[in-house]
Amino acid sequence: MIRETLKSSTFSDEKIKNLIIPTEKVAHVQQNNSLEHALLVLVKSGYTAIPVLDKESKLNGVISKALILDSILGLERIELDRLHSFKVADVMNSKLATMKMTETFAKALALSINNPFICMIDADGAFKGILTRSSLLVYLNQELFQKKK
Ligand code: AMP
Repeated sequence: MIRETLKSSTFSDEKIKNLIIPTEKVAHVQQNNSLEHALLVLVKSGYTAIPVLDKESKLNGVISKALILDSILGLERIELDRLHSFKVADVMNSKLATMKMTETFAKALALSINNPFICMIDADGAFKGILTRSSLLVYLNQELFQKKK
């Protein structure tokens, strides 16, 4: 029974919609920001990776501490000046896990195996927020083991 519910529930359903961290609470950067700015946001927020959005809140990609560190590694030393000269667009990964709000919890769970967070978009492709692996696990734990049957 739980299996069927989880399989068919979509993120338009009130019950699981609130698992999504809404856009205004998502730490993010823009493509034309410097790598230094992106690194500051990542370090200060404590997140490993965050989305790259444009001014209209459309998704452009994802930037991570690992991508930034990799881009400033020279052959013999860390080239710190690249933090100023490179932009987020130069090193971000434009491949990212996205899902429409009308897709199912089962799909989110499968995507979360290889992605620490999934970007949620509406029918027009507008960014609606992120779904983290931990929020999916909290929900599953609650549904499977905490609820009285
Ligand atoms: P968690 O499953 O809570 O560890 O989150 C997984 C990943 O999602 C984190 O490592 C971050 O990369 C990203 N993340 C979580 N919350 C936020 C947020 N509020 N803003 C931006 N990225 C986030």
